[in-house]
Amino acid sequence: MQRFVILMYHMISEPKTAAEIKYACPPKQFEQHLKMLLSSGFKPVSMKAVQEYYIQQTPLPDKAFLITLDDGFEDNYSNAFPILKHLQIPAIIYLATGLVGKTNQWMSAPTFSERKMLSWAQIKEMASQGISFGSHTVSHPKLTELDDGSVSKELAESKQLIEEQLGMECSHFAYPYGLLTEKTRELVKKAGFKTACSTRSGFNNAERDPLILHRIEVYGDDSKWKLKQKIKFGMNEASWLFPLKYYSSRLLSRLG
Ligand SMILES: [Zn+2]
Repeated sequence: MQRFVILMYHMISEPKTAAEIKYACPPKQFEQHLKMLLSSGFKPVSMKAVQEYYIQQTPLPDKAFLITLDDGFEDNYSNAFPILKHLQIPAIIYLATGLVGKTNQWMSAPTFSERKMLSWAQIKEMASQGISFGSHTVSHPKLTELDDGSVSKELAESKQLIEEQLGMECSHFAYPYGLLTEKTRELVKKAGFKTACSTRSGFNNAERDPLILHRIEVYGDDSKWKLKQKIKFGMNEASWLFPLKYYSSRLLSRLG
């Protein structure tokens, strides 16, 4: 069965704290990742193509990959956008709409540094040049800790603001922290979203629930080789030991 991979990035800049190494990918590294994917025969697709794959069964190219950027950091405009544009790779950025034009208030210092978030002007410029935008709620809460009414409010308000600002339908969502329950999924569907990204790792295929898409988390210090391994095995962790672990668990499952 045809499978495709969704890659998850956050900041495209130099990490400023130890904890940020996982979430901040230096621009040079990001560019190398993308060039490696293209030269290895992977084909970039948009989230719209993924939506059409699920809703209209429009096939995706073989070895399809989708770039997603969570949260809406300003470096997505200053660092990621020029690279994506140059390589003609579409991407989707998930915005916490209450933080647009502000800072990453939900991330605590000193573990994380203060970072500027995108402005609506930057978002509009990117939207006119191949970048899509999805909702990542208003305030980046843990949705599993809110009552249903508050969850629906977070979903509806962020969706509406993106639609007002961009003048187009906002059909895509990403769960903050990847947290969801069956109920959260239902509310996301009820709010009118057609796709939703989780942080569960692995590939996607026709059998995957489009409202719980899986992603591979790309760390800021992943080498090209490591990223290739992650995509090969559909997992977030890929060390030198990894192929061994993979084959031994397959062997065990065959024995068991
Ligand atoms: Zn987030």
